[in-house]
Amino acid sequence: MFRFLHPKRRRPLDEPCSICTAPAEHGYSDHAEESIEKIRPRCLNCLRPEFDRDYKDFKGRAVVVAPAAGPPVYVFQPTKAWSEHFPKSKIAQDVCSLVERIDSTCYECSKDAKFLWVQSRGLDDKNFIEVLDKGISHTLLKDNAPPVSLCASCCVAHILRELESKRISYLEVCSPKGNDTGFVLPMGY
Ligand SMILES: [Zn+2]
Ligand SMILES: [Zn+2]
Repeated sequence: MFRFLHPKRRRPLDEPCSICTAPAEHGYSDHAEESIEKIRPRCLNCLRPEFDRDYKDFKGRAVVVAPAAGPPVYVFQPTKAWSEHFPKSKIAQDVCSLVERIDSTCYECSKDAKFLWVQSRGLDDKNFIEVLDKGISHTLLKDNAPPVSLCASCCVAHILRELESKRISYLEVCSPKGNDTGFVLPMGY
């Protein structure tokens, strides 16, 4: 747990963006918990087209919790693998029922929706563990506005707007992949 908080590990953000050499704000990876060498440093500008492509290519459905300052990573976790690893955790089951609430069209632009956007007020570097244990419905959704259904472009626009306005930097970010059901959450490991 919390390998990124270990001070002696070299962090992806010690290096500049590997596309344009601007200062890196995030470490971009293909899958959650990627080895440090495979996490590519990215500035926000270079992350944008990668997120756009990933979220459009994703064929499943996901609950996406807004970025929050504090937890070190912002990664996609497929529910199937999650519940195999953490059978007592309630979040996978909760996410499977939440994705059933996704409307067919986007709340903002009426394109096809496949993401359920949940606000993250109150989420910090300690209580994300409670969200993983108890699920989103019994934690975040109690203190936040009702979730909305979004298409890929609107979901990425929301994520980037929050990253920018809250000036958040994540050691690892990765996008939804394949056709799984899953969730994107600010968390740590
Ligand atoms: Zn860049
Ligand atoms: Zn939309």
